[in-house]
Amino acid sequence: MNGLMMHRPLLQSGLLDYAAESFPAAEIVSRRVEGDLHRQGWAATRARAVQLSHALEALGVQPGDRVATLAWNGHRHLEVYHAVPAIGAICHTINPRLSAEQMCFIAHHAGDRLIFTDLTFVPMLERLQDQLPQMRYVVMTDRAHMPETALDALCYEDLLQGHPTDRVWPDFPETTVSGLCYTSGTTGDPKGTLYSHRSNMLHALATAAVLGPDLGPQPRILPVVPLFHVNAWGLPFTGPLIGASLIMPGPHLDGASLWDLCDTEGVESAWGVPTIWQGLLAEIRARGAKPAALRHIVVGGSAMPRSLIEGFEKLGVDVNHAWGMTETSPLGSQGSLTPEQRALPFDQRMALKQGQGRRVFGVEMKIVDDAGLRQPHDGRAMGELFVRGNTVTAGYFKNPEASAKALDAEGWFGTGDIASISPEGMLTLRDRAKDLIKSGGEWISSIDVENLAVAHPKVAQCAVIALPHPKWDERPLLVVKPAANEAPTLAEIHDLLRPHLAGWQLPDDLVLVDEMPLTATGKISKLTLRHRFADHVLPDLRDA
Ligand code: ADP
Repeated sequence: MNGLMMHRPLLQSGLLDYAAESFPAAEIVSRRVEGDLHRQGWAATRARAVQLSHALEALGVQPGDRVATLAWNGHRHLEVYHAVPAIGAICHTINPRLSAEQMCFIAHHAGDRLIFTDLTFVPMLERLQDQLPQMRYVVMTDRAHMPETALDALCYEDLLQGHPTDRVWPDFPETTVSGLCYTSGTTGDPKGTLYSHRSNMLHALATAAVLGPDLGPQPRILPVVPLFHVNAWGLPFTGPLIGASLIMPGPHLDGASLWDLCDTEGVESAWGVPTIWQGLLAEIRARGAKPAALRHIVVGGSAMPRSLIEGFEKLGVDVNHAWGMTETSPLGSQGSLTPEQRALPFDQRMALKQGQGRRVFGVEMKIVDDAGLRQPHDGRAMGELFVRGNTVTAGYFKNPEASAKALDAEGWFGTGDIASISPEGMLTLRDRAKDLIKSGGEWISSIDVENLAVAHPKVAQCAVIALPHPKWDERPLLVVKPAANEAPTLAEIHDLLRPHLAGWQLPDDLVLVDEMPLTATGKISKLTLRHRFADHVLPDLRDA
């Protein structure tokens, strides 16, 4: 027997309606590419998204069509995020840090015909124009800033002009696709994850439920995490749900720019990858103060080193260490502490925060060994992390081969991450499977070594990669970007690591780099490092 309750589809358009009606004081503040600081409320955001939806229909955009974006975080990008799915079309965000080749691959694979671009990317699109013969362009600016361009381009503000600012959004099934995001393709071609209205709505509800208490009422949030990758961790949807103000940093993501924006805009919670927080912490130390209202950061995408967590916590900033991936919408786990955990001594609390927290409601987790056998959640057993839930991908867009491999026989998605789970339900990521170092039949977690080494005052950033070794299979090489002008020696790093690691887990050698290569999502690119140091000869092999 069915329940006798209404069944209204969970559609994203309901979010804008809700925020516009319920949170008149909340605002979207955007540091725009044009150089100004723009402010508007959720009601104006809805009105403009309505105008845009009419404009899209006038351009012939149909339900199911892919509409691409190539843009920083700003109000116009947010408007596209809401207008496109509201009429049943698909918002396809493209990461501008990808190579031109990957971008073209993605645009073709997705079948994009229309792309909304920031001014920044117009020259790049002009260069790619010949490879994208079907494409039409909308430059997200006003007439005064519209560039001379060879593109068949429309001006965003002109496009909105004259269209009604109100409408009743269409109804359609909640399982309709709403968004498309490709993985970064660090291994093989990028693969497309198709989010649905339902999955994004459930993700927003779950995120609000687990993070809401720490965020507080109507928080002022800085999404440094880009709208162009993984839905900015769902903030375009969770934001209106909780009446948040979103402070959009545009292209300026260096420590000084973020410090200023956080301080003047009263940012309370800031979300981004560890490399961003490293920049901000350096700026805080240089200025001798944190941005006044900042009290919470959410970090994920790669492991947040303990020294960095402690740096913020000592300033009174609560660090929430989360885990997720493109294929999980993305939030899979998050690290808000229970009252008992908050009462623990500093050291124990920091140890907890180094892990990736507990699973989000609706995301089930299991860890399995190489034979596919479930491992106990005892905090020690390691295995590949598999997840299942309404916000987890069931396959990849137009990619039957990758889809066939995505799920195990029980229908769980294999993350490629190696993890352990404690009896209290706390997840700890040990490594990406492909980054683990196999030495003499044992595994060395690159994350563990990096976390320790980066705490050395002479280390700004570091990464551990495996080099082939005739006797041990693989041995770890530590790549270091030195802090200031002083480089650490291998012996100094060993002194720091020795109390925490077994002798065979210590890196065999240390090499210095001026800059760490980063992936399109701001993580240290171990793939690039592996290529760069492929011919490096380890000390014990030099005389051989
Ligand atoms: P890509 O970096 O290829 O674009 P995603 O952005 O989807 O892919 O990143 C997902 C991956 O990032 C995860 O599978 C995991 O390896 C890593 N990751 C995410 N959060 C964390 C974290 N808090 N600690 C360690 N690794 C993380």
